[in-house]
Amino acid sequence: MSNAVDRPLVVVVEDDDTIGRLLERALRSNGYRAQWYPTGTAGLAGARRDRADVVLLDLGLPDLDGTELARRLRSELPDLLLVILTARSDEIDIVSGLDAGADDYLVKPFSLTVLLARIRAHLRRSPTPATTGMIALGDLTIDTAARRCTIAGDDLILRTKEYELLETLALNAGSAISRDDLMAKVWDINWFGSTKTLDVTIASLRHRLSSRAAVPTITTLRGHGYRLDPPDQEAC
Ligand code: CA
Repeated sequence: MSNAVDRPLVVVVEDDDTIGRLLERALRSNGYRAQWYPTGTAGLAGARRDRADVVLLDLGLPDLDGTELARRLRSELPDLLLVILTARSDEIDIVSGLDAGADDYLVKPFSLTVLLARIRAHLRRSPTPATTGMIALGDLTIDTAARRCTIAGDDLILRTKEYELLETLALNAGSAISRDDLMAKVWDINWFGSTKTLDVTIASLRHRLSSRAAVPTITTLRGHGYRLDPPDQEAC
């Protein structure tokens, strides 16, 4: 058995006893530390106290509004992987949950295998906590844990691929990145098709970053790829 503290802690906040116990047991038998809480208040306290790595959050709780709880968890534990579990297939609930800072969602009834696969994939992908959580380039900030961008404090709403492209460029700000590397990182490791989608996404990202104050610019490197240049006042 590996050191218990090395294993990710998954907090389950779910008022349905059957689902709560099932998830707790399944997570433990799949190598996680897991703790189930039947109320939002207890879940928030537990996640905060034990510094949860992952929270599986049921949106329909008896004591607290699930979306509000998602927001509080996200602000108090910025590196948290937050997955919403909802019986409501209503798009609006899912959207408000994601807006509140959730990384992913599953609509009940969901497959345990899919849930475990999603957690594994997210944990693999997430950057080293704390040190790489925030990227600041002039007025642009990128919170990689929350996948949220702001310009001078205002939210910058990006499509999934625009965000991933910007994050990849920003993590390497000032350095050239080849088209192949960008395609592999943002789209698919086995990409064989046209890379026009890259140019289209770059163009729309430039558009979203344009006409704003101190934001980085995307420089085209002909025959190679792209480079994100920090705004002038950041240059050294
Ligand atoms: Ca519920």
